[in-house]
Amino acid sequence: MNLLDDAHALAGDLKQLRRTLHRQPEVGLDLPRTQETVLQALDGLPLEVRTGTRTTSVTAVLRGTKPTDNFARTVLLRADMDGLPVTEQTGLDFASQNGAMHGCGHDLHTAALVGAAQLLSRHRDHIAGDVVLMFQPGEEGWDGAATMIEEGVLDASGRRADAAYGLHVFSSQQSNGTFFSRPGTLLAASYRLIVTVRGAGGHGSSPSTARDPVTAMAEMITSLQTMVTRTFDIFDPVVVTVAKVRAGARHNIIPDEAYFEATVRCYSEVTYDAVPTALRRVLDGVASAHRVDVDVDVIAEFPMTVNNATEVQLGAATVVELLGEERYETAPHPLSGSEDFSYVLQDIPGAFIGLGACMPDADTATAPMNHSPRACFDDSVLADAATVYAGLAIGRLDHTPSPESEAR
Ligand SMILES: [Zn+2]
Repeated sequence: MNLLDDAHALAGDLKQLRRTLHRQPEVGLDLPRTQETVLQALDGLPLEVRTGTRTTSVTAVLRGTKPTDNFARTVLLRADMDGLPVTEQTGLDFASQNGAMHGCGHDLHTAALVGAAQLLSRHRDHIAGDVVLMFQPGEEGWDGAATMIEEGVLDASGRRADAAYGLHVFSSQQSNGTFFSRPGTLLAASYRLIVTVRGAGGHGSSPSTARDPVTAMAEMITSLQTMVTRTFDIFDPVVVTVAKVRAGARHNIIPDEAYFEATVRCYSEVTYDAVPTALRRVLDGVASAHRVDVDVDVIAEFPMTVNNATEVQLGAATVVELLGEERYETAPHPLSGSEDFSYVLQDIPGAFIGLGACMPDADTATAPMNHSPRACFDDSVLADAATVYAGLAIGRLDHTPSPESEAR
């Protein structure tokens, strides 16, 4: 069995599949064309395929035929499939024209997992257990992973998966073809903060007769920045970014209300638990100082994506064995993005692994990042990504001890 050679023989097909997906991005939980394309690509493979009832997910189970000690094992591999509501400006000849964009590279994840399905199907006799392929809609803030978990994806093989792996490509900051991860927290937890400041409007020339929500809001925004370092350990960082602000209609009228929204990121359980109270304390305090009222909504979006150390080690060893030592790096610190694969990793030990897919002629330092309308991803990484997905499943199934051997 040579996974890498087999994968490179598939490279042209995978690239074509990725470009088909790229041309027709769909957003959210309802991705009918994407689902149809994936089902067609999996057609004919020895898989038990199920589609979601509340989403357009695809779950495929492959039963390995390698003789084992009769102890069933399962590994889950996940790819997300949704695009973003962004108008593509890459100028690529297969760029999307429909107003949405695969700006986070999920088209590559989907194609790579289809590649892994083909590799694993070809080598069933090397697979000592079951592999669940999780094709997930709605990663970009639509709760797609949580919905698939509710629909039973973690138990799709008939038993709870023993380990789970996900891959994510990056169009910038990481050198092309390099896989990376780290034990513990890899990605941030995030909250969405929504604040409405209620005062009493009046004439701009006589602010003392009004209760100005705009100056109070301005102070809240800066006080939140001060709060970060004055409340939380600088070695356990918190990020508060107010990115949406709305108030007033004219330069000389004090409005009744002001409104802002922020994203809040953090990296540890203690901090994640402490953030909502700290935000409310500062916002309530500033509001009372200026005689305005404030409504504060702190909405939990994603928990932290926390890798299991043993699974990361296996991931690193798999990359090194299949592709060479220079192709894996340990990330020096967590990344500030968030992921709903975090929900899978809350239930099952596993690892989320990054892959640099910067265009070969671009500078990794300045290339447009994921989610940019100009982000470009190099699809020549697909064969390697498919190889790593397949290698992770095969290797992990070989290395899962049976309960008896664990007890010994
Ligand atoms: Zn993404």
